[in-house]
Amino acid sequence: MSHVSNKKIANFLFEIADLLELKGVQFKPRAYRNAAQNISTLSKDIKTYYQEKKLQDIEGVGESIAEKVEEIIETGELEYLNELRKKFPETLQEMMKIQGLGPKSLMKLYEELGIKSVDELEKAAKSEQIREIEGFGETSEQNILENIQRYRKYQERFLLGYILPIAKDIEKQLSNLNEVERINLAGSIRRRKETIGDVDILVVSTDSDKVMDFFTNLDQVEKVVSKGTTKSTVIAQENLHIDLRVIEEESFGSALQYFTGSKSHNIKLRKIALDNDWKLSEYGLIDKHTNEKIAGENEKDIYEKLGLDYIQPELREDRGEIEAALKGNLPNLIKMEDIKGDLHVHTKWSEGSHTVEEMAIEAKNLGYKYLGICDHAKILQIAKGMSDKEIREQMKEIEKVNDKLDGITVLSGIEANIDSDGKLDVKKEVLKDLDIVVASIHSGFKSSEKEMTNRIITAMQNDYVTIIGHPTGRKLNKREPYEVNLTKIFEEAEKKGIFIELNSFPERLDLTDLGCLNARDYDLFISINTDSHSKDQLRFMELGVSTARRGWLEKKNVANTKNFNELKKLL
Ligand SMILES: [Zn+2]
Ligand SMILES: [Zn+2]
Repeated sequence: MSHVSNKKIANFLFEIADLLELKGVQFKPRAYRNAAQNISTLSKDIKTYYQEKKLQDIEGVGESIAEKVEEIIETGELEYLNELRKKFPETLQEMMKIQGLGPKSLMKLYEELGIKSVDELEKAAKSEQIREIEGFGETSEQNILENIQRYRKYQERFLLGYILPIAKDIEKQLSNLNEVERINLAGSIRRRKETIGDVDILVVSTDSDKVMDFFTNLDQVEKVVSKGTTKSTVIAQENLHIDLRVIEEESFGSALQYFTGSKSHNIKLRKIALDNDWKLSEYGLIDKHTNEKIAGENEKDIYEKLGLDYIQPELREDRGEIEAALKGNLPNLIKMEDIKGDLHVHTKWSEGSHTVEEMAIEAKNLGYKYLGICDHAKILQIAKGMSDKEIREQMKEIEKVNDKLDGITVLSGIEANIDSDGKLDVKKEVLKDLDIVVASIHSGFKSSEKEMTNRIITAMQNDYVTIIGHPTGRKLNKREPYEVNLTKIFEEAEKKGIFIELNSFPERLDLTDLGCLNARDYDLFISINTDSHSKDQLRFMELGVSTARRGWLEKKNVANTKNFNELKKLL
């Protein structure tokens, strides 16, 4: 059996979807993407499903996809995909990652200008060849150039949500070694940045050769870039670089501080050290005159000796945290344990994979006290939205689940769509009977800032709206946020008592960290929701909480830290 991760299998299926799309095949690409999305967010290793012969239990995986998954697990290859690949130049589907270029346009450019790579596309756009092709013009040429820039920027960053589980798994395997005495993730992943460039791991070890051997032979490793006694670099799936450094025990704290960054945070810290005639480096905090080590073994000591309160890694971005630490004014950051429920999840009633009851049981297992079911209403045809009648039926089902389950309350809600005039796609007669109404933008992303802000503000005039969903619409590495004046939205939210969502989905994490930081100036609540489409995705809450911490949020700023009765009042 070959070693293939869930993510890797998902990538095979995503690639099939892309290629089928290039071929002009209808519907099938969507089925493959759906299965791939579900596989990539499973909480269990897909091999357990394989061994128990239960691959078809995974939502969206039917007989044909299950057979393909088996083949990938058994051989590491997929003949069907290899055949498909032969039909197109390899670089063509890479170009599908460029925003705004659908398969039809790509095939046209390929057939008419022979363009089969991003570089060739850029060249053609720059030499004004594309505008000559029917269906393209000067504007689309300009857009293509902009989107190529964006594409290049995206290629260098990995989404935290998909890398964190891999990094934690490797950290755990290493920490189980007898030769590893201390271990920590460092770098941007420790600061829980929404996208990261690479993974840094630091250890203290009694036998670094043995640790390096183990590290470079991990299952996840696809290539060893370099192997030494104090530092090794490997490439894991999808070209992710992982560095492991072995550090002397007496410098572990200063190395951890140094490699965690951010750069601008560290520059300020070093300046404070210099003001004291000390020197701060990865080797320790050292007296410049006597060369005596003042701190180094533990990170906390470094902050303490510099006269600062300990600064949590998520805050280390030079956004005022050092000044606050000097004054003892740091926020008391929200923690995962503070979260009492999730207010925006989907079920089979729209595009979700599980039933209301399955979602509720999973939420209860996570220790939650309440769960808000907010499926799409009917206007979103593509998301299999509910009619008014179906909303009523779902409410009845939720009642039944509430009768059946103890310890958790399921709230009935809806994710209504805000149309181009700011109207919602659900009637007030229906809305009034729901506990939660999430109002979100899912179309018309190109509205001007003024139009977009007006759309949302208009929606907020609807008395039944309780939450504004994913407030800037961005999708990391895919779509830039739409233009919206968040200040105005915050002001209105404060006035109307409407929550602003921090959507924990790996691609969204929106409200962003900076958005949270700004929201702190208003008397409003943030609601950290997962927007889960399956029960495994409920664990994305961790990403939302990390983003909230990066945005300086405290328990008191977040609606779903309240107990059920308090929350009910706020809603
Ligand atoms: Zn949505
Ligand atoms: Zn949603």
